[in-house]
Amino acid sequence: MDKTIFESFGPEDTFRFGKELGEKAKEGSVFTLVGDLGAGKTVFSKGLAEGLGVTEQVNSPTFTILQVYEQGRCPFYHFDVYRIGDSSEMDEIGYEEYIYGEGVCLIEWADLIEEILPPRYLKVTIEKDVEKGYDYRKITLEGVGYEDHCY
Ligand code: ADP
Ligand code: MG
Repeated sequence: MDKTIFESFGPEDTFRFGKELGEKAKEGSVFTLVGDLGAGKTVFSKGLAEGLGVTEQVNSPTFTILQVYEQGRCPFYHFDVYRIGDSSEMDEIGYEEYIYGEGVCLIEWADLIEEILPPRYLKVTIEKDVEKGYDYRKITLEGVGYEDHCY
């Protein structure tokens, strides 16, 4: 399993890291995003979207579970499953069409639906470390299910 640690010292670093991953992302790849409230998940998501060429404003789709953006170089499917009861709600929105589709998926709070994640995905974890400062974030990128280099 491939693992990379990126240290962020402010929102612009987190944005840039997301953007670089968006620029490199292969069509069909799935990113999962884990981190507490205020960790920087939305900042990262905006960067990833920009890297994919999405020009529309990106926000957390908290009240919709899924927001679809079509203006980038491939579709961008932005999930936020924070308020989901259980993964049957994912069946209702037909998640498989997106997760196994041609676009790039990003799933915030993916640990809540771990049982329906695909065999391979890129797991992004954002953690604070107050000892290193208020704006410090440790971002871990892990290729789950990949045998070798995945990005
Ligand atoms: P989440 O979506 O995880 O709840 P947001 O991205 O909405 O979090 O908010 C993160 C907040 O933390 C923003 O106000 C941002 O300016 C601030 N922040 C401070 N340092 C960082 C950093 N290194 N990376 C990302 N956000 C940071
Ligand atoms: Mg958010």
